[in-house]
Amino acid sequence: MTKNISLLGSTGSIGTQTLEVCEKLGIKVSALTANSSTDLLEQQIRKFKPSLAVMGSEEKARDLKVRIADTDTRVSFGTDGLCEAASIESADTVVTAVVGMVGLKPTLAAIEAGKNIALANKETLVAGGSLVMKAAKEKGISIYPVDSEHSAIFQCLQGCHDKKQLKKLILTASGGPFFGKTIEQLRDVTVEQALHHPNWSMGAKITIDSATMMNKGLEIIEARWLFDVPVDNIDVVVHRESVIHSLIEYNDNAVIAELGVPDMKIPIQYALTYPERYPCDVEQLDLTKVGGLTFFEPDYETFKCLRACKKAMKLGGTATAIVNGANEAAVRMFLDGKIQFTDIGDIVYESLDRVKVKPIETLEDVLEADHQSRTAAGMRPQAIRVFNFSVE
Ligand code: NDP
Ligand code: MG
Repeated sequence: MTKNISLLGSTGSIGTQTLEVCEKLGIKVSALTANSSTDLLEQQIRKFKPSLAVMGSEEKARDLKVRIADTDTRVSFGTDGLCEAASIESADTVVTAVVGMVGLKPTLAAIEAGKNIALANKETLVAGGSLVMKAAKEKGISIYPVDSEHSAIFQCLQGCHDKKQLKKLILTASGGPFFGKTIEQLRDVTVEQALHHPNWSMGAKITIDSATMMNKGLEIIEARWLFDVPVDNIDVVVHRESVIHSLIEYNDNAVIAELGVPDMKIPIQYALTYPERYPCDVEQLDLTKVGGLTFFEPDYETFKCLRACKKAMKLGGTATAIVNGANEAAVRMFLDGKIQFTDIGDIVYESLDRVKVKPIETLEDVLEADHQSRTAAGMRPQAIRVFNFSVE
């Protein structure tokens, strides 16, 4: 069981819930990081007394330093700061709960420093999965999934003694707020509507990813790397109630599932206490209250992002970094009111034609693909047209 963590992205949805789990279980906290939430980070520093705190920029770091001058916490900033937090000596596990592929470098730094990883930050595996898994294998590092579907699969796999007997992974998807809608109905979706998830309360980026179903596409790729399963053996089923968090199927057609109320504290805690289990501060599942469970095929036509991720996974190399970079850029533009909701799917799908897919040999290959993809997404006529319109 983890005794001491470094928490990257402590002010976010996963970050704050991780701190609740740590407080309950008496897990120490060596480092905390935020991008710009100085007030919340200051409160967390006063409560958890880490030796290092990291902000997104030098300016924010300077402000934080003044505020916490009376504490023993040192302050750093930027990607170098995140890498420093990821390799801090006193932590045995690094919880990666930042959003976006900004988590890739620090995750590699954590592995290099010999830390186990509790991974929430799926974009890291989507962009650089081959690099991360290779480095983890070489260093003998464990990567424990925090994402609820992957935690479910990890829990289901506990009884599996030979992976050759495994036939399929089945990821469940809530379907998001726009399940059953047509492309035409989705065109005028507002930011507010897209930010309203029916079952889960999460950060803004992943909530939009759930609405476009990009989240499930990212999770297929994440599962491929975490469990070393070919993409054709990973299925997605829409399950509106989010009670079954995912399933595995064996070669004898026996199917094992993990169920619970939709609450991220269970997967966060299991990633930190594995292989032990402890009581957790979440509601008990009452199946009679749930009543019925429903299942549907995903709509790959309407939810283009899901299709793009499957295609990228098959293309291999930098393709998954390309769709991820395009999506990160597109979600930002949508949240800023520069593009329409359905443009996200178009931008992500077209990114595979706009940016050349290359093999991944080094981190630079991934960073370059990400950069090119973001640039291409920003230059897309749709993005420019709506942007110009909004500034007139
Ligand atoms: P949030 O947006 O709530 O939090 C993100 C965290 O990362 C915050 O601490 C934020 O700081 C920090 N951050 C944002 N941008 C940067 C940056 N450029 N550099 C450094 N730090 C940054 O996200 P979530 O907690 O919802 O998600 C975190 C990750 O976990 C994502 O990859 C998501 O896909 C994954 N995940 C989340 C789930 C959930 O239930 N929320 C479920 C499963 C996976 P600040 O507060 O200052 O902006
Ligand atoms: Mg998930």
